Amino acid sequence: MKYSVDDRGYYGEFGGAFIPEMMYPNVKELQDNYLRILNSPDFISEFHSLLKHYVGRPSPLYFAPRLSEFHNTKIYLKREDLNHTGAHKINNTVGQILIAQRLGKKRIIAVTGAGQHGVATATVCALMGLKCVVYMGETDIARQEPNVLRMKMLGADVVPVVSGNRTLKDATNESIRDWISNPSDTHYIIGSAVGPHPYPDLVTRLQSVISEEMRYQLLEQTGKSDPDYIVACVGGGSNAIGSFYHYLNNENVKLVGVEAAGKGISTGETAATLVTGRPGIIHGSRTILMQDEDGQITEPYSISAGLDYPGIGPAHSFLHKTGRVIYGNVTDDEALEAAFLLTRLEGIVPALESAHALAWLGKTRFRTGDVVVVTVSGRGDKDMSAYIKYMNTRDSEENSYGSK
Ligand SMILES: *Cc1c(COP(=O)(O)O)cnc(C)c1O
Repeated sequence: MKYSVDDRGYYGEFGGAFIPEMMYPNVKELQDNYLRILNSPDFISEFHSLLKHYVGRPSPLYFAPRLSEFHNTKIYLKREDLNHTGAHKINNTVGQILIAQRLGKKRIIAVTGAGQHGVATATVCALMGLKCVVYMGETDIARQEPNVLRMKMLGADVVPVVSGNRTLKDATNESIRDWISNPSDTHYIIGSAVGPHPYPDLVTRLQSVISEEMRYQLLEQTGKSDPDYIVACVGGGSNAIGSFYHYLNNENVKLVGVEAAGKGISTGETAATLVTGRPGIIHGSRTILMQDEDGQITEPYSISAGLDYPGIGPAHSFLHKTGRVIYGNVTDDEALEAAFLLTRLEGIVPALESAHALAWLGKTRFRTGDVVVVTVSGRGDKDMSAYIKYMNTRDSEENSYGSK
């Protein structure tokens, strides 16, 4: 089975480029040039040099002894949380800014919901001295103040979007308008493995460094480059597809993507796209998405801002359909509990997104010798207020039990 994109930009029935005609020249330029640039020796050497000296790669593969004992198996953590800016998103933005430069672009635009992708984009723009404009819904700006401040300090223009619900979807429309008006000098950096072809494939290839490193790190530490499982959380799906990429054709390795169930998949307050969605078109590609009977995109919900997305990258829809990847889902409470478990057993505070992948471990029965790699996509600094709130409610519940 071929799991990679075909030359029309499809993964089976999913993918493609469903874009307004006026955006066609911009996307076509990228389609025609991305593989040539990605494979050019000068791109490869600059990308790898920046990943090493700027991002801090390779990220460690850490054997977690106490967590392993807890789950009665061997757990290795792929530490994307230790990257510069605290998550895997920088792998993609470093790659895309090098592509933008090679296409002669002087200006970068991006859309961000939670602000994480905005920060990763503003960071590489500062690094390269390119102008950066980040579109963000006004509602999201209010919710994500620390990231907005970081983007501003990095020199980005954060443009508040006041149409619609003032969230991601509205900011996306605004950024598309910008790109159409500025086709020759502007590159649009998409932050996950979503969007019209070639973005899903481009982002996948840039994030595939995660599984490339895993292979030799596992060989070094376990004597085998193949684990039994690889587990990663899925919002749009970029850290997951990067973690799976070099194992897709190796059926000995079980691949697991974990979506956010929010308050539960049947509550209506969820972001578990694959269990609640149907095929349709979102952000320029055909994929599975959450929608009502009339095909209107429904508002997703998760405690974790990075997983709060109504679609999923087209490759994941295909990997789900073919059964190559198993997709599970985890509620807010299960993720919070898993974040505390990792913190108390290993001294690592994960991002709420990553905590979803970790929580899946608790819902699975492993064999004692299984080697399980979990990608810790980011660090938890940004989620401290959610964690402290959870800790306080948990403590007060414990106290009231204790006093009875
Ligand atoms: C953005 C984000 C995610 C979700 O994005 P993917 O494209 O699905 O990887 C996961 N973890 C962290 C820490 C993030 O910032």
